Amino acid sequence: MRTKPLDRLLFAQGGECFFCHRPLPREDASIEHLVAATHGGKDNDENLVACCQALNTLFGRMSLKEKLAVILKQKGAFQCPARTADPAAAPRATPTPAPEAAAPTRPATALPVVLAGLRKRGNARPRTLDALATLVADLLEQNGFPVAEAKDVVARLRSQHYIEVQDRRITAYLLPPSKA
Ligand SMILES: [Zn+2]
Repeated sequence: MRTKPLDRLLFAQGGECFFCHRPLPREDASIEHLVAATHGGKDNDENLVACCQALNTLFGRMSLKEKLAVILKQKGAFQCPARTADPAAAPRATPTPAPEAAAPTRPATALPVVLAGLRKRGNARPRTLDALATLVADLLEQNGFPVAEAKDVVARLRSQHYIEVQDRRITAYLLPPSKA
């Protein structure tokens, strides 16, 4: 049985927006052509992603280069325009960093801490997403990060290809080498 492209993409993306990695309900999702059809982009899964509708509207007929410029301008965690906001106003609405993110006592993101924790574990790393989420929550707590970020961190490990996942099982860790 053939699945609908949007359902297929959402499934492949773990139910999250391709760009901002926030949970994406089907009714808020739309299909984005990375290379727009008007620029010769194909209608296949290689060129299609599911993302927040507001971002899709903003991207419109931009070239891939222009889209990347929008994404890179945000530096760090990418946020789609608010789902209720006027998409035209979005590029200027650069999110102001949360106060705790500016605290100098710890890295701006929990990811390096988690990567270091995973590296230390060698072959004793979690084999399932659930076990990984538990470990990540522990690492966050030990290092003074909000435990609520665990889901985000796991999503990031996935989206940045630090882990390979199949059926919620982790089939491989691709950790960057330690800088120490
Ligand atoms: Zn999004």
